[in-house]
Amino acid sequence: MTANLLDYDLEGLTVFCERLGEKRYRAVQLFRWIHQKGASSFDAMSDLAKSLREKLKVCAQVSAPPILSQHISADGTIKWLLDVGAGNAVETVFIPEEDRGTLCISSQAGCAMGCRFCSTGHQGFSRNLTTGEIVGQLWFAEHFLRKHFQRDERVISNVVLMGMGEPLQNYVQLLPALRVMLDDHGYGLSRRRVTVSTSGVVPKMDQLAQDCPVALAVSLHAPSDALRDELVPLNKKYGIAELLDACNRYLAYAPRDFITFEYCMLAGVNDQAEHAHQLVRLVRHYANGSGVWCKFNLIAFNPFPQSGLIRSAPEQIQAFARILTDAGIVTTIRKTRGDDIDAACGQLAGEVKDRTHIAERIARQRTFMFKPVSVSNQSVKET
Ligand code: SAH
Ligand code: SF4
Repeated sequence: MTANLLDYDLEGLTVFCERLGEKRYRAVQLFRWIHQKGASSFDAMSDLAKSLREKLKVCAQVSAPPILSQHISADGTIKWLLDVGAGNAVETVFIPEEDRGTLCISSQAGCAMGCRFCSTGHQGFSRNLTTGEIVGQLWFAEHFLRKHFQRDERVISNVVLMGMGEPLQNYVQLLPALRVMLDDHGYGLSRRRVTVSTSGVVPKMDQLAQDCPVALAVSLHAPSDALRDELVPLNKKYGIAELLDACNRYLAYAPRDFITFEYCMLAGVNDQAEHAHQLVRLVRHYANGSGVWCKFNLIAFNPFPQSGLIRSAPEQIQAFARILTDAGIVTTIRKTRGDDIDAACGQLAGEVKDRTHIAERIARQRTFMFKPVSVSNQSVKET
């Protein structure tokens, strides 16, 4: 069987090379060719011994999920839909800003958490992505964008696990992927610039703190258990008090001295002044008054028909933010980006699709619609 080298962090690749009878430092060379130069052809790896290249050709490949479609928004946001097989597709979104380039990546095909306001949740769970499929999103995007912008240096400065899926429900595959992102021989991103977003899988938050404490965002969405139970079903297992305890424990290891709470603004559901005041009390009075060091990120709900929910009006979001900031809590309102291409994180083309629809769409795109804009996996293979 051919191994996909995108499945390995440096330690894994070292074991792989040793099994081929190669010295450890060969793994570093190989790793750098793949992640720093974007190479997928072993012939291109000119400083590897010919004998190793021949061995690799037989037993290995560097393979990211194929791109089904690419949409470029007027504001520069780029969204790719990737084929992960058996009728499943996941999305990856690049968000350029003046001082950074953020890649939002997916961790699962679908999601089992079933949050009410999330189109991925409405699709149900299909499967966990492999490490190679998670890393492959960054590998493809980084090297595609370098070509696209004709830059030799890094284009993606930040990675957020805010695409499809609950990353902490795919911990085993996620961990090596995070290590590839942080590795100086890989993408060299600092722990502050890689953010895992979770709906609150408490035991895995503790594990992440030990194994690889990157920045953490927690999807809170409600100030009380009664409301959060309705919006985020996982709350019935790990309620708010337990979740905030876990946040406080995480903070001892986190690269930043705060947790980001994400809060999706749903008209008439969780966006009233009373909810904001409740939130202030919650995070202030928590842990016998010592509170939780946190920042709020308010997200305008990205509507989709089956949700039966409505996005809060901008004035409502502003007013809500003011209550939090007046109480001294740093609060940002997430800019909507790529609206014209439905590129909000957590959305797949802004519509709920059951898997049959995705399969149909994949078939259609393969046959008629999609002609990549001079992009395909092939175009980045020979760098
Ligand atoms: N499963 C993880 C990460 C993926 S979702 C989590 O839930 O945190 C990333 C973010 O997008 C989460 O904060 C999620 O609540 C939010 N989100 C999901 N659907 C949304 C929608 N329709 N509109 C706005 N934000 C949404
Ligand atoms: Fe899953 Fe996150 Fe969507 Fe909830 S919000 S269903 S955890 S992807």
